Amino acid sequence: MQFTVSAQLPAQAAQLFVCTKGTENKISHETAALLAAALGENESFAAAQVPFEGKLAQFAVLRFADLDTATLQKAAREAAAWAQKHAAVAVDVNIFCHIDAPRTATALIAAFGEAAYRFDRFKSQSEPAKLTHAVFVHAQHGEAVQHAIDAADALLFGTNFCKDLANCPPNVCTPTYLAETAADAAQKLGASATILGGDFIRDNMPSFWGVAKGSVQEPKLLELSHQGASDPEQAPIVLVGKGLTFDSGGISLKPGEGMDEMKYDMCGAASVIGAFLTAVKAKLPINLKVVVATCENMPDGGASKPGDIVKTMNGTTVENLNTDAEGRLVLCDALTYVERFRPKAVIDAATLTGACIIALGHVASGLTANNQDLADALLAAARETNDKAWQLPLFDEYKEQLKSNFADLQNIGGRPAGTITAATFLAHFAQNYAWAHLDIAGTAWKSGKEKGASGRPVALLVQYLRNQAAQQ
Ligand SMILES: [Zn+2]
Repeated sequence: MQFTVSAQLPAQAAQLFVCTKGTENKISHETAALLAAALGENESFAAAQVPFEGKLAQFAVLRFADLDTATLQKAAREAAAWAQKHAAVAVDVNIFCHIDAPRTATALIAAFGEAAYRFDRFKSQSEPAKLTHAVFVHAQHGEAVQHAIDAADALLFGTNFCKDLANCPPNVCTPTYLAETAADAAQKLGASATILGGDFIRDNMPSFWGVAKGSVQEPKLLELSHQGASDPEQAPIVLVGKGLTFDSGGISLKPGEGMDEMKYDMCGAASVIGAFLTAVKAKLPINLKVVVATCENMPDGGASKPGDIVKTMNGTTVENLNTDAEGRLVLCDALTYVERFRPKAVIDAATLTGACIIALGHVASGLTANNQDLADALLAAARETNDKAWQLPLFDEYKEQLKSNFADLQNIGGRPAGTITAATFLAHFAQNYAWAHLDIAGTAWKSGKEKGASGRPVALLVQYLRNQAAQQ
């Protein structure tokens, strides 16, 4: 989809006029002004067709009750349902100032992109959205709107990349496919990428290998690099993603119902890759690295068993009490691996625990951190984007639940506070840097009729990176 800016309203496109409560009378177009005046108290959108030069001209109005991000996003989705039925849409944001016009454009681009998103590459017949071009119209603040468009377009690219990767079936999206597809996309944008394979992982990352060795698919460790800061030596921000392209549970096999959705156990990887590609496309002046640990968790004769004890990359021994708690066994070695970058901060994203869905539902991602400044920065980004996150504590008492009779740690802590004990496990391997963990098990994808990847938390991560870039 193409997004552009114009100082004048093009005559050919379907026309959308945007206002707020109380500014309806400022709409310059007569038909649209009438539509806006007729909106009910709680309505925000109306559309009409008017005969014009032998054709039907399309008009719509979008009225925001207030300018909160959540209000903008919700109303924008209504407009997007209409917009996707037209090939070209012109959006008049003239009523807004140099701050609110770009914010409005940002919300509308995300909504248009979401409405037009399809994952139909495996269908014989596709039904693409009609919408291919949106023009934002502002007589004065075209430049500010253009900046917002560039940022929103880069975010849409990264979000859709995340969704495509996540929605891809697990027989196609293997660890090799995931790593190569991401490396390819990064290199096309001018970033660098390396992929380490099974030999390296077996010899250096024994806990990761313990999860991967039950599958015929070779595990991969993907590393992406963006050197955007003026000082190449500046400590990088590192994003780590859990990339289980299929999680059967291993020998601790999951029940069959809904097991197809375990292709989404790589959404952490997909989201950090999406955030990375957005940052590169937007040329953010930061040094950024992504490390993705990707493999399958499968049961076979060589798979890890409950009771196995493995030595992790940093020497800690772990008793594996449930092979379905594999994400932390993969991530712990990835967290040790990233020490070599001497990072400014490390943030991992992982569909880690079903317990997070019990705690926070499908509304907020779970956030834990060993550094409150980092947690606060992520919570601020979550508020700014309405990509919600909620902090859970990492009190020392939770460590008790991970004590094993036979090893330094065990990989599960029982039912109480399952999200926190998983994070407590990870924290053990993240002691040498500022670290935060996003548990996205409840937010990364939707089930049921709307089944599909949500693209979260790409927006949150990108906003955090933008804020970091702005502070330099
Ligand atoms: Zn699992």
